[in-house]
Amino acid sequence: MDTEVPALFDEAARQAVELANNFADAHPEADIWDIADGMLAGAVHFWLYSRQPCDDPMCEDCAPVSTAELRQTALKQLIRQFSEESDYYHTPTDSNAAWA
Ligand SMILES: [Zn+2]
Repeated sequence: MDTEVPALFDEAARQAVELANNFADAHPEADIWDIADGMLAGAVHFWLYSRQPCDDPMCEDCAPVSTAELRQTALKQLIRQFSEESDYYHTPTDSNAAWA
């Protein structure tokens, strides 16, 4: 794997969070849920844009993303992975959080 890839991944994620924070700071009256949903919509849009299969129907690289359903499955797997890796996956105020 290209050693630049993890650095680019981390930097893209960092800049996305920074953009959202700056946007929230600039619109203190806004509902942060609306900002987050808009950020997610944009991220999904860009992700789908990036996963358009090439024009070779037998391409092995594109096989995992060769239909809308396959792309959505791949996207859901990534969302699940990134969610579980997030510091905010569990919160102390979760309704199922254990009492200390
Ligand atoms: Zn391809």
